[in-house]
Amino acid sequence: MSNETQIVTRIAPSPTGMMHIGTARTGLFNWLFARANGGRFLLRIEDTDRERSTPEATQAILDGMAWLGLDYDGEAVSQFERAPRHRDVAEQMLANGSAYKCFSTQEEIAAFREAAREKGESTLFLSPWRDVPEAEHPDAPYVIRLKAPREGTTVIADKVQGDVTIQNATLDDMILLRSDGTPTYMHAVVVDDHDMGVTHVIRGDDHLNNAARQIQVYRANDWDEPVWAHIPLIHGEDGKKLSKRHGATGVMEYAEMGIPAAAMRNYLARLGWSHGDDELFTDEQAREWFDLKGIGKSPARLDMKKLANVTGWHIAQSDDGELVEQIGFYLALTNQPPLSQAQKDGLLAAMYCLKDRAKNLPDILDKARFVLEKRPLERDEKAEASLDAVSRGILLELTAQLQNASWSRDTLEGVLNATADSHGLKFGKLAGPLRAALSGRMVSPSVFDMMLVLGRDETLARLTDAASPNT
Ligand code: GLU
Repeated sequence: MSNETQIVTRIAPSPTGMMHIGTARTGLFNWLFARANGGRFLLRIEDTDRERSTPEATQAILDGMAWLGLDYDGEAVSQFERAPRHRDVAEQMLANGSAYKCFSTQEEIAAFREAAREKGESTLFLSPWRDVPEAEHPDAPYVIRLKAPREGTTVIADKVQGDVTIQNATLDDMILLRSDGTPTYMHAVVVDDHDMGVTHVIRGDDHLNNAARQIQVYRANDWDEPVWAHIPLIHGEDGKKLSKRHGATGVMEYAEMGIPAAAMRNYLARLGWSHGDDELFTDEQAREWFDLKGIGKSPARLDMKKLANVTGWHIAQSDDGELVEQIGFYLALTNQPPLSQAQKDGLLAAMYCLKDRAKNLPDILDKARFVLEKRPLERDEKAEASLDAVSRGILLELTAQLQNASWSRDTLEGVLNATADSHGLKFGKLAGPLRAALSGRMVSPSVFDMMLVLGRDETLARLTDAASPNT
């Protein structure tokens, strides 16, 4: 692929709060599309609205992108800082006749609308200044408006929605530059996308209506139009537009729930895009498969059960060391104490028996308590209750038998089964007190896994602790 045709996508969030999962998904689609095609993926912060944009909100976007692993090419672009360029383009458009100065005041426009409403006529404001020559202009504040085509249609050739035709007569001459010289958002987006060389605009379909006006700005400047792909918004489980009452809407809330980023990427990719029946896939597969054809026309629904399945699958096949790292990140993010080196080592050794049915990272930590906590273990009520005099006696007997047993699963199984037999018990009866002794709880990995992970000395010490009534 030559440089001229290299695909360039972007995410252009407005920094006005947390990073919404809709924005994260749009970012992911753009990132996947760029990465799938050897293209570039850019980040532009749309911070023109000075009142609503805050540095914290910009940081929230950067944090969200970093967590999701959406690495962007080059520096993040600030839309606000490009205001002089937006102004220049508006001036150029004045000069080439594709824009004009409009001196109508806001009061005049409001009065026109009011009157039109009363008469039951269209409130579309058509400026009387559109064709007034420069010589007749007053010395008064003005806005610069696009001289939009009044007749015919503008067609958005959308890769998701198909051809969307807008009657030009329904669009007014939009403002490009306000009377204080600041650009409007609609103008800034086009100038920025053009200057950044964006070839594909993939974004939420709440921007579909904007596309028609934006296309007119491209044409007025004789610039190449990008390929458009407007994705349906994410809905809640009830089919209504996603809102707080459906659950978490900020992407970092998912990080705080202990969803690994790879699982979130997989889940978000499936929210609106599909590749056959594939629900579970790796980043490599997503990059290989992603295309605009796979984006659906109807809104996807957020489904926490599906997310849990996807997460379970990713955790089960993750590298153990990688999971320990992610748990470290999760603990820091949720303001919990960090793991010591010994705890990390223990977690790593135990991971093989923790990750199989875990639904998220805190689930792993919960199962990992046997390896994270030190003697003497605190036992919960049920664990304490399982340690009656008989079972304490059996545990004591076991400590003697395990002194010289070779520390392998087979041998341990043999010893434990033989001990249960000799007391006329099923192994299950022995498993309760053993769990209590080894983990202080009744829900834990299998006793064999715990014994293997803890090793002989620690196992014997815990059995001895549990066998004596006061520890
Ligand atoms: N700033 C817009 C938003 O956050 C996106 C504009 C665009 O993608 O063109 O919704």
